[in-house]
Amino acid sequence: MEKTKTAALLETAGKSLLFTAKRPNIVMERGEGMYMWDTDGNRYLDFVGGWAVASLGHSPAALQKALTKQSATLVHASPGYYNRPMLEFAELLTSVSGMDKAFFASSGAEANESAIKLARKHGAVNLNGAYEIITLTNSFHGRSLATMSATGKEQWKELFAPKVDGFKHVPINDLDACFAAVTNQTCAIMVELVQGEGGVHAVDEAYLYGLRKICDMYGMLLIFDEIQTGLGRTGKLFAYEHYGIQPDVMTLGKGIGAGFPLSAMLTKSKYDLFEPGDQGGTYTGAPLAMAVGYAVLAELLERNLADNAYAQGRYLVNALQKLSAEFPITAIRGKGLLLAFDVPEGTAAELAAICLREGLLINSLNSSTIRLVPPLIVSQRDSDEMLGILRGAFGQLQAAI
Ligand SMILES: *Cc1c(COP(=O)(O)O)cnc(C)c1O
Repeated sequence: MEKTKTAALLETAGKSLLFTAKRPNIVMERGEGMYMWDTDGNRYLDFVGGWAVASLGHSPAALQKALTKQSATLVHASPGYYNRPMLEFAELLTSVSGMDKAFFASSGAEANESAIKLARKHGAVNLNGAYEIITLTNSFHGRSLATMSATGKEQWKELFAPKVDGFKHVPINDLDACFAAVTNQTCAIMVELVQGEGGVHAVDEAYLYGLRKICDMYGMLLIFDEIQTGLGRTGKLFAYEHYGIQPDVMTLGKGIGAGFPLSAMLTKSKYDLFEPGDQGGTYTGAPLAMAVGYAVLAELLERNLADNAYAQGRYLVNALQKLSAEFPITAIRGKGLLLAFDVPEGTAAELAAICLREGLLINSLNSSTIRLVPPLIVSQRDSDEMLGILRGAFGQLQAAI
């Protein structure tokens, strides 16, 4: 019975969905805490965390409560009016982020579009029309045309040409290359502090300090894309706190809504440059999303989940280092619960597939890299369960080669 149900659903997938992603032949149906279940009732321990999104785990009570309460009160007010949760969340988020003003949207790409627009506005108003933005090779900033153009993915270079003009890509942690790319047309530098999709590579402290200095020297904006690193993921509420260097603009997404579509662009009062009509959106500051954002952030703070991310991240790194004595695990890296390690070239997808069969979700980021981004509620026991399955999967992988 159950099997036929799944087979029928998979047939529908082939028939009615555009093929935009390779997905395994299972259908997810339910989630709770660290686990998801498929339509055959198989349970999966989730170290993909809804793609670094499910910061509070699956179907968290705080989110359910906020949605239920707000949906019975006011679902949508129109972007043309203030609403109560919009103002309450803006106040909370600015008070904990070191930033002064917020603009809300639904996806990370939109938050970054807003940052790009703000940088161009700054160029137009303050820098004689400068519009170029320097970003990093291997970076990821989203899938709208402008954010794809900002993204430094080699495979996207020719995709959907012509790209949006005005982006220059430079290698990470190479200050000279960045300096050399600055012209009188440059208005901003935009970076991820730990490149999430690009392989989990962090910027060096000296490099980030250098970027801050370059921006200060030329009056350019320093933009941190904290869509993946923000809201506790790296073991601090914001990754910039590891460096003690503040941005002029910061974007947030993924974990900010813990699964509800929500993103934000934050900036300092000094760059409060948009005029009415410059930027907006039907869902900007919509009550449901704002109520969720508030509840998620309040929960993160109350339970000190950034501290848990730090502690569990250390525990996982130590355990992986031990495991690397027995299995081909190299280059263990990352911060907090944004972690990755390398496996022999060409084996990452196979390792992830074996883990899936054994009830563990991990993300093969490319042909030789595994990324771990579990919910921030992960416990030592969850990590031990993950490590046990991973150990078995390495055994199976070695037997197979
Ligand atoms: C995921 C991600 C984005 C894009 O967010 P979407 O919600 O998919 O539009 C942008 N920047 C970074 C660093 C990300 O990890």
